[in-house]
Amino acid sequence: MAFTDFKLHPSLLLGIKELGFVRPTPIQTDSIPPGVEGRDLLACAQTGSGKTAAFLLPILNKLIDKPRGTTRALVLAPTRELAQQILDDMKDLAVHTPVTGAAIYGGVGMGPQEHALRSGVDVIIACPGRLLDHLRNSYAKFDKLEHLVLDEADRMLDMGFLPEIRKILRFIPQKRQTLFFSATMPPPIQALTREMLHNPVFIQKERQAAPASGITQAIYPVSQELKSSLLLALLKRGDMKQALVFTRTKHRANRLADFLVRHGVNAERIHGNRSQTQRTAALAGFKSGKFPVLVATDIAARGIDVNELGHVVNFDVPMVPEDYIHRVGRTGRAEATGEAFTFVSRDEESDLRAIEKAIGKPLQRVTLPDFDYNAKPEAKLEVPLAQRIAEIRARKAADRARGAGRRQGGPTTGHGGGGGRPGGGGRPGGGRPGGGGGRGPGGGGRGPGGGGRGPGGGGRGPR
Ligand code: AMP
Repeated sequence: MAFTDFKLHPSLLLGIKELGFVRPTPIQTDSIPPGVEGRDLLACAQTGSGKTAAFLLPILNKLIDKPRGTTRALVLAPTRELAQQILDDMKDLAVHTPVTGAAIYGGVGMGPQEHALRSGVDVIIACPGRLLDHLRNSYAKFDKLEHLVLDEADRMLDMGFLPEIRKILRFIPQKRQTLFFSATMPPPIQALTREMLHNPVFIQKERQAAPASGITQAIYPVSQELKSSLLLALLKRGDMKQALVFTRTKHRANRLADFLVRHGVNAERIHGNRSQTQRTAALAGFKSGKFPVLVATDIAARGIDVNELGHVVNFDVPMVPEDYIHRVGRTGRAEATGEAFTFVSRDEESDLRAIEKAIGKPLQRVTLPDFDYNAKPEAKLEVPLAQRIAEIRARKAADRARGAGRRQGGPTTGHGGGGGRPGGGGRPGGGRPGGGGGRGPGGGGRGPGGGGRGPGGGGRGPR
């Protein structure tokens, strides 16, 4: 099968050729013909399968000859990065066509997005939350929408977007083409597809639970404390030129990136606490090769598409097998080869077993020669939870003790006009700084001992 076998507009075929796509991927072979015919699709497709072009090409094909100025297609995606990635892919595919697109997501200004909606760009690619914010205004109109795509639908449901999706559906005509893409099909997803799709073509090319072919997967058993050193050793050997490293928490992502930088590895981080500007810069630096290592938490890394990404490292074992498959799907895309390493400490073995069960085969255990598995760790990546809780409790107890000390032996409460609240811990001069001036009837003037409010006002101490 070749792209020229599909009934696609010549200007799209040109874009495809310039992208260097020689043959359609299996998901594209199955999705594009019914998509072009206007059928609804229900596709089980993972990241790396070529799913983005599989849903964009039929839509772009339909839009090319339509008049401009009306939004006719909406793609919903779970994260900003994925939305931006889809827009970039769309621009590449549509480069020789007049079709326009814009992405809508949180963390950036509403102005340019409002402008895109007002001017009726052809394709809107949006995260549900921010899109709903716009839909509360009259300028956002989807009453002429003809195509709706849900990308990574399972992930959107995992992230709790179902209510938003349902609300968005109310703004969209019932009569439309719906293309529904999801890596997995758990029961809530199946229920949603029954509501949203009309006689869909069901496509499940790859086995539901298997990473893309061409990926070598290996497990490195290692203690929690030595994971950073093991990663450093693997990087220093020089056979990992570019690696996307996943950690369980934002905190661990920060600490690990700091550790790597301290040891001369140019690493960046991407996670939910980073601003959109920081995330974009980190991603661009990683893609250009400026940062050979990007440490990421799972959610933030959705939609990262790095051509021929050589390595994915699961610094922590993903707790859900689907996350493993998604992550590993980032390497070895579209027929390239890649490696996925997973660091497993003893307490993560059961999560690993669940993954092996889901992919239907045991993963190979390997050790790094010359690595000292008994070394003394440099520092812990994070303070254990129990210790952190104990520290917080101790700090609070100390604060309370200090407060009690002040109340008993501290400066006298400001009694100027209104009488401080018992236990309020007033300061000399009475009430709230700047707020203590005599207000209302009988309000005492400022000055030593002044500051209190009028009768019943109760000069407050510090809060
Ligand atoms: P996706 O699964 O849509 O995230 O895309 C996976 C990657 O494969 C992206 O980098 C695409 O540019 C690339 N890709 C998509 N379709 C093809 C194709 N037919 N041939 C080669 N690469 C492709």
